[in-house]
Amino acid sequence: MRQSLVMGNWKMNGSRSEGLALANAIVAGLKEGDKGIAVCVPSVYLSDIERAIENTPLALGGQNVADQASGAYTGETSAFMLKECGCEYALVGHSERRTYYGDTDESVAARFCQAQKEGIIPVLCIGETLEERESDTTFAVIDQQLNAVIDMAGIDALANSVIAYEPVWAIGTGKTASDEQAQEVHKYIRKQIAAKSQTVADKIQILYGGSVKPDNAKAIFAMADIDGGLIGGASLDAASFLAIYQAI
Ligand code: PEP
Repeated sequence: MRQSLVMGNWKMNGSRSEGLALANAIVAGLKEGDKGIAVCVPSVYLSDIERAIENTPLALGGQNVADQASGAYTGETSAFMLKECGCEYALVGHSERRTYYGDTDESVAARFCQAQKEGIIPVLCIGETLEERESDTTFAVIDQQLNAVIDMAGIDALANSVIAYEPVWAIGTGKTASDEQAQEVHKYIRKQIAAKSQTVADKIQILYGGSVKPDNAKAIFAMADIDGGLIGGASLDAASFLAIYQAI
């Protein structure tokens, strides 16, 4: 049985005080022994949130990580820095990074490797655009994004990572993939990994992301190959985020 995981992605939203209030409200809704819940917060607030959630079940993640270890890379945040701020996870290859900031399959793979070098669990985001789905290339896109990481990191490295399948057309749009559409791709991802290592395929958590809300979470999470969710908009409200966590 795989441990489930519900992870919030706050993106570039809120202020320091709002972030602290949100983290405190999430923690207030958790009980001792709860597991599998995390928030990826803006990097400038990591230390504040780290202090607020210390010794609670809520884990911390960065929203991106540099593809280099250190040096003259203005504006980047290294895996070491994330680790120092208490991060257990880091998103890599979120579609907003790929679309707006030019993150390529290769740089995403390098970010994945840098995270793992510091003991941070990379959450590899993959998924097709609407155009790619409509032209029947969803699986080819998944293969390309996944293989770029497997080629650089090796299949065994995936055992210490999480995959988030996020159809780009469902992110922040209010349009969710149907439970069956999501399951079909999750099953495909697991099958592709199993072709290289059954052990890794059985172990890896594959999250679904794309307009998950309290009212659709239960049905999505009930699918066999869906181990949890990466939650954007609904993670900005503690009650919604907790309701999604409780749906698992
Ligand atoms: C995301 O940003 O990863 C995401 C899934 O966003 P939303 O839940 O708002 O669609």
